[in-house]
Amino acid sequence: MDAAHVIVGASLAGAKAAEALREEGYDGPLMLIGEDPERPYERPPLSKGYLMGKTAREKIYVHPAEWYAEHNVYLRLDTTVTAVDPVAHRVTLADGITVGYAKLLLATGAAPRRLRVPGAGRENVLYLRTVQDSDRLRAAFKPGARIVVIGAGWIGLETAAAAREAGAEVTVLEVAELPLLRVLGREVAQVFAELHRAHGVQLRFGVQITELTEQGVRLGDGTLVAADTMVVGVGITPNTALAEAAGLAVDNGIRTDEHLRTSNPDVFAAGDAANAFHPLFGKPIRVEHWANALHQPRTAARSMLGRPAAYDRVPYFFTDQFDLGMEYTGYVEPGGYDQVVFRGDPGAREFIAFWLSGGRVLAGMNVNVWDVTDPIRELVRSGRPVAPAALADPDVPLDQL
Ligand SMILES: Cc1cc2nc3c(=O)[nH]c(=O)nc-3n(C[C@H](O)[C@H](O)[C@H](O)COP(=O)(O)OP(=O)(O)OC[C@H]3O[C@@H](n4cnc5c(N)ncnc54)[C@H](O)[C@@H]3O)c2cc1C
Repeated sequence: MDAAHVIVGASLAGAKAAEALREEGYDGPLMLIGEDPERPYERPPLSKGYLMGKTAREKIYVHPAEWYAEHNVYLRLDTTVTAVDPVAHRVTLADGITVGYAKLLLATGAAPRRLRVPGAGRENVLYLRTVQDSDRLRAAFKPGARIVVIGAGWIGLETAAAAREAGAEVTVLEVAELPLLRVLGREVAQVFAELHRAHGVQLRFGVQITELTEQGVRLGDGTLVAADTMVVGVGITPNTALAEAAGLAVDNGIRTDEHLRTSNPDVFAAGDAANAFHPLFGKPIRVEHWANALHQPRTAARSMLGRPAAYDRVPYFFTDQFDLGMEYTGYVEPGGYDQVVFRGDPGAREFIAFWLSGGRVLAGMNVNVWDVTDPIRELVRSGRPVAPAALADPDVPLDQL
C-alpha cells in the first residue's frame, strides 16, 4: 500500500484539504487527525447564530458525518499528534502509535491567548474557540446575568452582542482607546463603539486588568467590575509547537511559500497556523479568518499532489453584531494607511469604508451594503491609484473605478 497523505488538525482547513485531495483525484490512503472530539466544524457560528441558539448544531459541521467514510477519509478524532519526524516521514500520536506519511499537511490552527493575571484559572473565566466553549457561554448568557468581556476584538464584540441579545448585562473592558483599533484604525473603530453603546453594552477603554476575583474583574485603579462570568477574547496564537519541534521554519506561524510548502518539501501548512508568502503583497502574511481556511487547502492539496498552485487570494472576512453585518476585503497592517474614505453614512451604519495608502486602495469594508466585494477586491488587486472623490461618490459605480 502507498504511504498515506496525513493531515494534522481536523477543523475547517483540514477537512477542506481532505475534500480537495479527493476532488483533485487523489485516491490513495488519507488520514485526518484532530484533537477535538467533534468532527470538523466551522467556528463563525460559535460566536453568532449557534451561541444565540438560532443556528442548529447540525448546521455547523463542514461535512455530514457519513462523508468521511464515503470518501475513504480515515478520520481520527480526540487524538493529539505529539511529534512529526520529517526525516522518517512519520507522525506520532498521543497513544504512541506512529503513522507514516508521503506528504503531510499541518492545519493545526490557533489557540486563544491566555490572560496572565491572578485568578485567570477560575471556573467562571471562559474562552471561546471550540463548540464546547460556545455551549458553556450559552449556558451563562441569561437575562440579568452580569457578563464581563475582556478584549474588544472581533470575538469579544461578537460575544458581547450575543450576551446582550440573551438579555445579560454586558461590560466590555479594553486596554486600547477603542474597539478593534489596531485592525480598523480610529475612523471605523468608532462605528463599532457606537453600535455597542446603542445596544446597551457598557464599554470601558484604556483599562488594565490586574486580577480576576470571585466577584469580578479588578482594574488597575483598584475598582471592581462585578461579574458572574468573565469571557476572555484577547487574540490567538498559532499552534506551531509541532512544526517548531520538527525543525520547520516558524515565525508568527508556520512559514510557507506561495505553494503552501513549508521549509520541508514534503510538509505543507494552511489556515490560521500558516504564515504564507503572498505574491500580491510580496511578503508572508498570516490570516486568521474563515475564508483563508476555506480556500488555502485547495492550493495545499494541489501542491501535495505535485500540481501547479499558488495562493494569492485577497484576504476577506465578515462579522455580524446586532443589526450590523459587514464584509472586509483587503489587507492593511496596523497603521499602514494614510487616508480613510467613506462612501455612505457611517452614522447610519450603512456605508463602505476604504483604507488607502498613496492613493491606492488597500482594503474596503462594506457595512450593511451588499454585493460589492467583487469590485472592492478588484480595486485592491489592481493597485492602481483612485481619486478619493470618486470613491466617496455613491453615483460612481465601483466597477468603473
Ligand atoms: C468563535 C469564533 C468565531 C469566528 N468568526 C469568524 C468570522 O465571523 N469570520 C471569519 O472570517 N473568521 C471567523 N473566525 C475565524 C475562523 O474560524 C478561523 O480562521 C478558522 O477556524 C481557522 O481554521 P483552521 O482549520 O486553520 O484552524 P482551527 O479552526 O484552529 O483548527 C485547528 C484544529 O487543529 C487541531 N490541532 C491543533 N494541534 C493539533 C495536534 N497537535 N494534534 C491534533 N490536532 C491538533 C485543533 O484542535 C483544531 O481543531 C472565528 C473564530 C472563532 C473561534
